[in-house]
Amino acid sequence: MSTRSEPVRRAPQSRTQTGPGPAASDVATRAVAGFRSRYAGKPAGCWAAPGRVNLIGEHTDYNDGYVLPFALPLRTVVAAAPRGDEGWTVWSELADDPVEFGPSAVDEPGKVTGWAAYVAGVVWALRDAGHTVPGARLAIASDVPLGSGLSSSAALEAAVLTALADLGGLDLPAQKQPRLAQRAENAYVGAPTGIMDQSAAIRCRAGHALFLDCRDESVEHIPFDLDAAGLAVLVVDSRASHRHADGEYASRRAACERAAAALGVPALRDVPVAGLDAALGRLPDDETLRRVRHVVTENQRVLDTVELLRTGQVREIGPLLTASHVSMRDDFEITVPEIDTAVEAALGAGALGARMTGGGFGGCVLALVDADRADRVADTVRAAYAACGFTAPGTVTVLPAPGATRLT
Ligand code: ADP
Ligand code: MG
Repeated sequence: MSTRSEPVRRAPQSRTQTGPGPAASDVATRAVAGFRSRYAGKPAGCWAAPGRVNLIGEHTDYNDGYVLPFALPLRTVVAAAPRGDEGWTVWSELADDPVEFGPSAVDEPGKVTGWAAYVAGVVWALRDAGHTVPGARLAIASDVPLGSGLSSSAALEAAVLTALADLGGLDLPAQKQPRLAQRAENAYVGAPTGIMDQSAAIRCRAGHALFLDCRDESVEHIPFDLDAAGLAVLVVDSRASHRHADGEYASRRAACERAAAALGVPALRDVPVAGLDAALGRLPDDETLRRVRHVVTENQRVLDTVELLRTGQVREIGPLLTASHVSMRDDFEITVPEIDTAVEAALGAGALGARMTGGGFGGCVLALVDADRADRVADTVRAAYAACGFTAPGTVTVLPAPGATRLT
């Protein structure tokens, strides 16, 4: 055992699952079995946190705008027990050996590397916020695919945070937890992320989407009862490699900041859709104009989606999802052929709306579908992929699931 963790294997990615049913308990069973086989004795409990997809609101977060994620029935489960001393042992089914670290590894960021850094980062963030974190043994199993944009990292952080907070009896209100999990990832692991992933993993509710204002970090639970409407969301893992994603992300972000400065506003969120034409006329070139048009209209699409969902008009959000995709494809220019193929195939097979979700250049597509049509839409997407010679996509049919919770 050491503080250097081995690379992790990717979780299996092709499955069809319709809710937090048997597969969710399977993952808990695996975490408990892993705990029992690695460590002597039984876990004191099991804690779970979900992956997420963003229903709508892309590249709006760093523009102080709105996002609307919901939690997936795919979860990361931590089986844990106190260790009785100030040290932590972590094992994941996706890695070979457990990783062990003591307090000196979490007195500053960066000492634990690899996948276990996400766990050490949570311990560090909690201690840095003044909490006494109990030493513990942790065994981790997950159904969230890694690196597909469904936020396995936040699911891991949230599950570990919830487990340690419970084991230690820490006074940690839910609204403070996303920031701590985000610090673990930003400051300890060194991966820059906004607050959306951790907010979703911790605060989402079943049958709801989480309306998050990225300026003040306020959240509202918006009814998104797909089941009652006879609907489901098909999530397609594009399996497209994230070519140049980091550089392209940085350049989009810089363009938005320059545009806000040129328009004399703190962030593009402050450009209302009613003032869009006037604002566009003051921008220096066509590319900047299209970038701004995406962000401003995308924020409005989030607000429009929220308004429809508040009044139970779930089917009616379909065109907003598709309009979001068109805007990402043509104005923000962040889609790739695999993604556009999946969206077009889903719409052609009768999806009510479809869009890329996540930062772009790969990742996932989501499609709003009649539940009884989900398999047909998935088959059509797979056939369109095969016709283009793309690596087969992963597909999963989901309903909005709960955020982080104690299972046993
Ligand atoms: P995403 O969050 O989109 O899945 P990231 O690159 O942000 O992708 O996070 C993936 C990383 O998080 C993995 O490479 C691994 O280090 C860590 N991770 C997530 N889930 C697990 C897990 N169940 N076991 C071990 N490591 C995990
Ligand atoms: Mg992540």
